[in-house]
Amino acid sequence: MNKNHFETDAIRTQIERTEFLEHSAPLYLSSSFVFEDAEDMRASFAEEKERNLYSRFTNPNTTEFVDKVCKMEGAEAGYAFATGMSAVFSTFAALLNSGDHVVSARSVFGSTHALFTKFLPKWNIETSYFKVNEVDKIESLIQPNTKILFAETPTNPAVDVLDLEYLGEVAKKHNLTLVIDNCFATPYLQKPIDFGAHIVVHSATKLMDGQGRVLGGVAVGPKDLIREIYLFSRNTGPALSPFNAWVLSKSLETLAVRVDRHCENALKVAEFLETHSQVNFVKYPFLKSHPQYKVAKKQMKQGGSIVAFEIKGGVEAGRNFLNNIKMCSLSANLGDTRTIVTHPASTTHSKLSEEDRLEVGISDGLVRVSVGLENVSDVINDLNQALSS
Ligand SMILES: *Cc1c(COP(=O)(O)O)cnc(C)c1O
Repeated sequence: MNKNHFETDAIRTQIERTEFLEHSAPLYLSSSFVFEDAEDMRASFAEEKERNLYSRFTNPNTTEFVDKVCKMEGAEAGYAFATGMSAVFSTFAALLNSGDHVVSARSVFGSTHALFTKFLPKWNIETSYFKVNEVDKIESLIQPNTKILFAETPTNPAVDVLDLEYLGEVAKKHNLTLVIDNCFATPYLQKPIDFGAHIVVHSATKLMDGQGRVLGGVAVGPKDLIREIYLFSRNTGPALSPFNAWVLSKSLETLAVRVDRHCENALKVAEFLETHSQVNFVKYPFLKSHPQYKVAKKQMKQGGSIVAFEIKGGVEAGRNFLNNIKMCSLSANLGDTRTIVTHPASTTHSKLSEEDRLEVGISDGLVRVSVGLENVSDVINDLNQALSS
C-alpha cells in the first residue's frame, strides 16, 4: 500500500458514510447504537467484533478523529477525551498503580503540575522534577518504582525545548514509559514517537481545533497501553462528545496549512521583538539565540506558534503592556486564529513564589504571545504600539 503524506491523511481518512453518501463526514449525535439480534448483542459485548455500542466507549466521529491523530503521530491506537486534562489524567490513572513514581520536567502545564503535587499523592504516587536545563540529572531521579517519564516540549509559557531523542534513550535504558504532551508542537511539527515516546497526549483545544471553539483531548500510542487507557476511560467516562469530535476532525484537515502560517507569523514576531529596545530577550525555538536552538532544529519542522519575551520594567511593565494592547486578545487560550497575549507573573503563575516562578523561566516581565493568523504586520503594529506606550 502506498503511504500518503501528512496533509493527505488528514483529509482522506476513511469516513463512515450513511446511505446518502456524504462527501464530508456526517455528525453521529447518538448516545447508543442498536443491535441486529441477541447474537449480535452478545458478540458485540464480548468484543468479538469491532463496532459502536455506546458513545462513552466509541462513536464514529470520535473514531474518525482518533484515526487521524494516530496517522499523524505514527501511533497504533488512541482514545479521545473531553479535554486535554482528562487525556493527561486518564493516562496516568490507567498506567500507574499506588506506590509508583513519576519523573517529569518541572515546566509543565499548570493543571498537570497540580495533578502531580496535589492529586496523584492521594494514591501514593509521587513525582520528582528536573529543570529543563538539567536533563543530565534525570537518571539520578529514577527509582526502582519509577514507571513514567513525562515532559512537554516546547514548554508553557517559557518556550523551552527538551531533547526528545535523549528522553527516549533514558526511557529505553530504564524501561520507563515515556509520555510526551505534544500540544505546543502538534504532530505536524514534531513526532515524539519517532524519538522513542510511547504515549503522546494532546490538548486538542489548542492548535488542533485552532479556532477557539471546542475543548478536546487525545492520547495515542501502542495497542497494549492504549487498551489500558481505553478500559479505564470507558468505565470512568471522560469521553469526547461526538459534536466536538466532528468539529476537531474537520479542523485537522487544515492543521498543516494553519500551523505553517502560525509559524511563519511567529518567526516574524520573534525577529521584530528581538530588535525592540524595550525587550530584554526573546525565546522562540527557531531563533539562533534560543538556548536549545540545535535541539529544536533536530526535532521540529518549524518553531511553533508561541513566542515568549521579557519586557523591561518587571511586573508593572508587563501589566502596562497588556493594558495598552488594542487588537490582540487578553485570553487564557492559545493556538487560536486570534493572537493572544498573556503576562504569566501577574495571572496564571501569580500564586507561585518568585523563586518557583524563576525555576520555570517566568521572570516578572515575561510575556507570552500565541501568534495567530491575522496579517502579521497588524500583529507587529499592535505589539509595537503597546511596547512604546
Ligand atoms: C491547555 C493545555 C493542557 C490542558 O488542556 P485542556 O484542553 O485545557 O484540558 C495540557 N497541556 C498543555 C501543554 C496545554 O497547553
